[in-house]
Amino acid sequence: MNRLEGRVAVITGAGSGIGLATARRFAAEGAVVVAADLNPAAAKAAAEEVGGEAVTVDVADEEQVRELFDGVAERHGRVDIAFNNAGISPPEDDSILDTDINAWERVMSVNATSVYYCCKYVLPHMRRQGKGSIINTASFVALLGAATSQIAYTASKGAVLSMTRELGVQFAREGIRVNALCPGPIATPMLMELFAKDPERAARRLVHVPMGRFGDPAEIAAAVAFLASDDSSFMTANTFVVDGGITGAYVTPL
Ligand code: NAD
Repeated sequence: MNRLEGRVAVITGAGSGIGLATARRFAAEGAVVVAADLNPAAAKAAAEEVGGEAVTVDVADEEQVRELFDGVAERHGRVDIAFNNAGISPPEDDSILDTDINAWERVMSVNATSVYYCCKYVLPHMRRQGKGSIINTASFVALLGAATSQIAYTASKGAVLSMTRELGVQFAREGIRVNALCPGPIATPMLMELFAKDPERAARRLVHVPMGRFGDPAEIAAAVAFLASDDSSFMTANTFVVDGGITGAYVTPL
């Protein structure tokens, strides 16, 4: 499928996991990929692999995000797709009883304020074009409570979800679609680091997944490509859940 032929797509967090899988998928569908990441080597490797452009950016820094989108618009003439996906899930973010304000502020800044910056600075370009698709990565934890808390992460993803809905509504008549993606647990470096290398912690979570496995980043990339393409042309302000059935489940199969 060549649904994204010639479209200019910015992906934040493109150096790893879901962002990297999406860079591959976007390129396979014909997009010009701008791989943006805090890690310069990872951004470069991703860009080289997909024949795109690498940009080193800290999405928590307003000026760097403004430069990212203005720079892409200047060099490529347009910005058709923004996949605002970079995020962190550090171990210091845990139960509210043990999570200090520094961990809270860092997670809110990288996961939620970054999405505010990315949307704020890509929207003027999309408004000028009269067209654009923004996909913001939230999470299934924005929809479900967990006894294994990461309080700042969960709150940050809730913010992404409600911000996305509001932007989708506000800009719907300007040809700009804004949708949130809620992945379930996906086997990326972020998740493997936290849970999957510890079989007990992994099992504690997998019992709640009807499909009985973590998702593959490519399965999320397929959903992002759909949201980025005109195949989803009547979708905006949407919460797009790709979670192996978690949010639909009460008792899962043995
Ligand atoms: P990952 O750790 O594999 O990749 C994240 C990438 O973001 C890395 O390349 C990292 O360098 C980059 N990054 C981190 N901080 C940055 C910053 N300040 N500026 C720019 N880039 C930065 O993680 P992933 O699992 O692919 O997660 C991608 C997104 O999906 C995140 O928003 C995450 O919260 C979300 N998500 C992940 C899962 C999961 O189970 N893996 C589930 C739901 C949602």
